[in-house]
Amino acid sequence: MKDFGYSIRKDRQIDYDKNDKRVLHYLEKHEPSILTCIACGSCTATCSAGNFSDFNIRLVQTLFRRGETEPLKLEIRKCMLCGKCQLVCPRGVNMRNMILAIQTAIDKLK
Ligand code: SF4
Ligand code: SF4
Repeated sequence: MKDFGYSIRKDRQIDYDKNDKRVLHYLEKHEPSILTCIACGSCTATCSAGNFSDFNIRLVQTLFRRGETEPLKLEIRKCMLCGKCQLVCPRGVNMRNMILAIQTAIDKLK
């Protein structure tokens, strides 16, 4: 067969159903306000840590929903627990408790 310089790329799909969702299940039980999030982005826009670093609180929410625990561990360390995000959240998501509950859930996984 003639070589056109193209090849089939390796599959890069991620099957999120196979990821570890234990942190998400812990949060659903211990901080159920996370289920009311409408992904408006107000928390990210006002985040103190986000002003000084690449921290993104909505990325944190995406990671635990996907069950990506390893990057989640690194990400939550950047939160200063100042609570500004909670003041602007239209759905009353308790973000500080969410971060603390994520840490507790991760500690329980060890
Ligand atoms: S401000 Fe509240 S509702 Fe909006 S994205 Fe953040 S947690 Fe979700
Ligand atoms: S509590 Fe954390 S996520 Fe919320 S505004 Fe402060 S640094 Fe950002």
